[in-house]
Amino acid sequence: MAKVVVENLSKYFDRVKALDGVDITIEDGAFVVLLGPSGCGKTTLLRCIAGLEKVTSGRIFFDDVEVTTLQPKDRNVSMVFQSYALWPHMKVKDNITYPMKLKKISKKEIEKRLNWVASLLDISQLLNRYPAQLSGGQRQRIAVARAIVLTPKVLLMDEPLSNLDALLRVKMRSELKKLHEEVKVTTIYVTHDQTEAMTMGDKIAVMNAGKIVQYGTPDEIYLKPKTLFVAGFVGSPQMNFLKMRVENGKLSGYGIEIVLQKNLALKEIILGIRPEHITLEKTKHGLPVKGTVYFVEKLMSETILHLSIGDNKHVVVKIPYNISPKEGEELTVYFDATKFHFFDPLTEERVE
Ligand code: ATP
Repeated sequence: MAKVVVENLSKYFDRVKALDGVDITIEDGAFVVLLGPSGCGKTTLLRCIAGLEKVTSGRIFFDDVEVTTLQPKDRNVSMVFQSYALWPHMKVKDNITYPMKLKKISKKEIEKRLNWVASLLDISQLLNRYPAQLSGGQRQRIAVARAIVLTPKVLLMDEPLSNLDALLRVKMRSELKKLHEEVKVTTIYVTHDQTEAMTMGDKIAVMNAGKIVQYGTPDEIYLKPKTLFVAGFVGSPQMNFLKMRVENGKLSGYGIEIVLQKNLALKEIILGIRPEHITLEKTKHGLPVKGTVYFVEKLMSETILHLSIGDNKHVVVKIPYNISPKEGEELTVYFDATKFHFFDPLTEERVE
């Protein structure tokens, strides 16, 4: 296992800037998720750490050893791909043991390690099958077994669950997490699925346009998003954003007025409130806001209410599944004032 340090890393593909000065430190034994929209550079960062991509500038260290220019085979990393990348002509046990044979590990040790991963991942009954004779979830487990059998310093996973159906994804999520708790190998996991990131990551690095825009625990990312982008990317349904005027110590807009506790140098500010922090019942810190229901989405465990407030501004409210106001109904909702987020409309940075 190793601590991974990435320093000011940039990567160009011709004129495309895939990574733009990335700095990140991943503690020894941590499970860190790279989260971000398609094309933000997640896979490129993972491939640079693996040595599969040559960096344009910057440095990478495993513990205190610089690995920036080392070949992948000399880095002691393993990678699990979305496509599993199993060898189709080899039985499962050969898929798992082949990397060990290449390293000239003794037969006895190979047998020992094979038995270890087979029981860890519950795949003993599959060892004599070919990949084509396995389900997607089983193939994924074999790919993970092959990746950890040599206890790498760093385990890299690139959207490993995205080819699985929704139920299996949830199951594999907890299996991978439990596996990490047992093996404790430093893991870097790429996904664009925020639920995966929130449930699996000790820490999450949110990426956008080749940069890490916030690096923190799931709680920090959810409770204190540093930018408008992070606030909007994490959370489902998305956070509501309301542009408010700042005047005479008050915020106003959409029929809402909020008395400020401190002076703000801005003329306008963006108020963020998550759908789960708006309620139908009056609460201690609830700020009443009148609205008209224009759409109701009944999900299995909750109801999503789309409201029109003020000058036809739409806000989304998450309420219990057994309540469903009628479309066209006028009602009052309560914005929890202890859960407000504020952002500067120009810099898009959080304002405390
Ligand atoms: P996704 O979630 O869609 O896989 P990502 O966040 O992993 O996206 P990358 O695959 O790292 O993003 O791509 C980052 C940027 O670099 C994109 O603009 C992409 O088009 C570009 N890119 C990636 N690989 C190459 C390549 N081999 N040649 C040219 N451009 C590339």
